[in-house]
Amino acid sequence: MGRRVKDDQKLHVYEWEEDLHDEVYEDASPPCLTISDCQWLVDRTCIQWGVLSPRVEDGRGRKTACSTPEKICLPRLYREPISIIHEACHSIQFHISGDDDAAHGSLFVRLCIENYTSHFNLVRRELEETARSFGLSIARSSCPRLPDRQILRLRRMTDKLLVHSSNIAHHRNLLKSEIKQRQESVERFRETVREIQVERYG
Ligand SMILES: [Zn+2]
Repeated sequence: MGRRVKDDQKLHVYEWEEDLHDEVYEDASPPCLTISDCQWLVDRTCIQWGVLSPRVEDGRGRKTACSTPEKICLPRLYREPISIIHEACHSIQFHISGDDDAAHGSLFVRLCIENYTSHFNLVRRELEETARSFGLSIARSSCPRLPDRQILRLRRMTDKLLVHSSNIAHHRNLLKSEIKQRQESVERFRETVREIQVERYG
């Protein structure tokens, strides 16, 4: 992905994840999931963030994994949960902040922490502490500022809704005054009927 923002946390993220590897898999070698299991894990991770999940493809022949909003390529070595979730986080980040944040920046680390915590049943605070010990900065919230174009769109939508609601209020007032007028004319009619009755029958 062509990124505008400098990605200077990248190596520290890799080191932090290596440490996590040791903690999660201990001495055992990590599992090698099938492509469809990888896809399942990517779907499950992305769904929690309400974003479309990318297609997982066989990345054999590639040196490393790669990820775009549309697809994730996984060489065999990368078909274990930490790497898969890492790549899914790139995709999630793209959907929520476009190119506004560094690929392995503080928002990315926040997303990893949230997803690793829930997937491996870890303690969030401890994961944050280890991330910090590797010099990583972590976004406070996983809900970043929206890209400008999205804010503009939301504003336009809000404006439209405001116009709609003031139109509705206007029509409601018109209806109210019409109802009142009709009630008054019914009242006038009744009054006339009463007068005629009094006149005729006393
Ligand atoms: Zn990465």
